[in-house]
Amino acid sequence: MNIQARTIINGIAASPGLAVGKVCFWSDPENVPRYTIDPEQVPEELARLDEALASARQQLVDLQERVEKEIGHEEAAIFTSHSLLLDDPAFYARVEKFLTQEHINLEAAVEMAIEDIVKVLRKIPDLYLRERADDFRDVGRRVLENLLAYQRQCTLEEGGKIILVAHELMPSDTVQFHRHHVGAFVTERGGVSSHAAILARSLRLPAVVSVPQILSQLQAGVQVLVDGRLGRVIVNPDPTEIEEAERDQTLRAKAAASVHPAVVSRTLDQVEVVLSANLTREDEAEEARMVGARGVGLLRTEFLFMDRGEFLDEEKQYRAYRHVVEIMAPHPVTIRTLDLGEDKQFNFENPVEATTACVLGWRSLRLSLADENVFSAQLRAILRASAHGVVRILLPMVTGIEELRLVRGLLAKAQSELTTRGLAFGADVQLGAMIETPSAAVLPELILQEADFLSVGTNDLVQYIMVADRVSEHMQRYYRSTSPAVISLLAGMARAARTAGKDISICGEIAGDPLYLPLLLGLGFRNLSVAPVLIPDLAAAVAGLKISEAEDLAARCLRLSTADEIEALLRAKPTPAKGI
Ligand code: PEP
Ligand code: MG
Repeated sequence: MNIQARTIINGIAASPGLAVGKVCFWSDPENVPRYTIDPEQVPEELARLDEALASARQQLVDLQERVEKEIGHEEAAIFTSHSLLLDDPAFYARVEKFLTQEHINLEAAVEMAIEDIVKVLRKIPDLYLRERADDFRDVGRRVLENLLAYQRQCTLEEGGKIILVAHELMPSDTVQFHRHHVGAFVTERGGVSSHAAILARSLRLPAVVSVPQILSQLQAGVQVLVDGRLGRVIVNPDPTEIEEAERDQTLRAKAAASVHPAVVSRTLDQVEVVLSANLTREDEAEEARMVGARGVGLLRTEFLFMDRGEFLDEEKQYRAYRHVVEIMAPHPVTIRTLDLGEDKQFNFENPVEATTACVLGWRSLRLSLADENVFSAQLRAILRASAHGVVRILLPMVTGIEELRLVRGLLAKAQSELTTRGLAFGADVQLGAMIETPSAAVLPELILQEADFLSVGTNDLVQYIMVADRVSEHMQRYYRSTSPAVISLLAGMARAARTAGKDISICGEIAGDPLYLPLLLGLGFRNLSVAPVLIPDLAAAVAGLKISEAEDLAARCLRLSTADEIEALLRAKPTPAKGI
């Protein structure tokens, strides 16, 4: 691509807003960025190599000590030979050659040197030496990881913004963003309901995901504009576009800081729709209150851990939850217990077998129930926070009524422990279930026998019903929230909750998308929980709808047979609602 020319690259809009800044690659060893450097940068690059090698040496010493203690002397010796490979002059010489002769960046030079040496080793007839190829690849990868970690820190000019461009971003990457001067991010992988996109909305960062081959289309340092509403990236935007993006950045910063009156959102025919907030950090509570959230419908507690990068004991959790509860009072705060696993990894001191972490379904409530100490500490912290306002406990990934019974038992135990310790807790803490697994979705009335309220997690529900990974760019065409199966299940859940006289809300990402709003209202949902940034626009959309028309639309959707037909009906311009 001619990087001087203005070019538009399209992807999927994942978080609204415009941002302009310089491209910085957030990379991993599978997608090493490659670009040319000036010859005078070579000494600087070699200094970085020395630093990365020194870190790798230290990591290997640490690893060796750990293995020696936990496994044995013989196994630990492997890492001594790995350390020797780090000092191999042939490796250093090759990297230096690629830097000085080909003028490519250090990460790419290291990658090429590794491949080169591995190729040579593989050709050697001696079996022992041939097998060293894998060791060398392993060591080389460690050096590369260290370099990429440095690169992630992206240096910035004063006042400038960086646009992070990555193959994929994990939630643990994204949580660090607000600490840097990140203006927006763009990824090759990911969908609108991936956790990285969810976090972008909570951090008010524009984002575009699922952009094919964006890494090879851009170069580090090039100016780009990210349009998170239209889902596009403009390379070398023109001055008027830059001005518009800068205006948008200022407006968004002002909007985040300005005080809105608490809104009660009502439809044209005066039906109240409760809009509450999905939070990933406790400091978002202030913003949620300012935009008029009528409580917190979902506090994703795992992000508090991931954000701090440390395990939070009962006391630390209690302080975080209490902070949110006090800010939101008198509105309720729904605290979801840890929902770790899959793309949300956090290493406890006492991890439940890491090796099983990649197995489908080894996540969430199941992890909590497998580690009673961690889970009970969280239940006690939530209970203690309930002494300061209205608190509800929400369980993720419920698959059956027996899990709710187990948790009720643990809750009773936690209450008696707190009583023994003389600590206060609320008298009436409700226990709710997320409906995000097919087994809960097909029989919501059963779950309602034990749950005080339901919250529908459509992000996961759609991936499990449609068998389409919510994070994979290849699965986005199968990940259809408008599938007749999904819509019919949603209708059943709303009906079951109404019959049971219990509260039901939706906290998945479709709740914040105005496209789905008339359908959800028409199906009977009156509580939606969304990222704070989306609340003002959603309240405005609610005010333009009539329930009778929404019900009519929902009934028509329920008669259609494909996701495309339902989506087309939702996209068809609605006839303007007339006042009553
Ligand atoms: C969901 O699955 O819809 C949900 C709200 O939870 P999370 O996105 O955290 O999995
Ligand atoms: Mg979920």
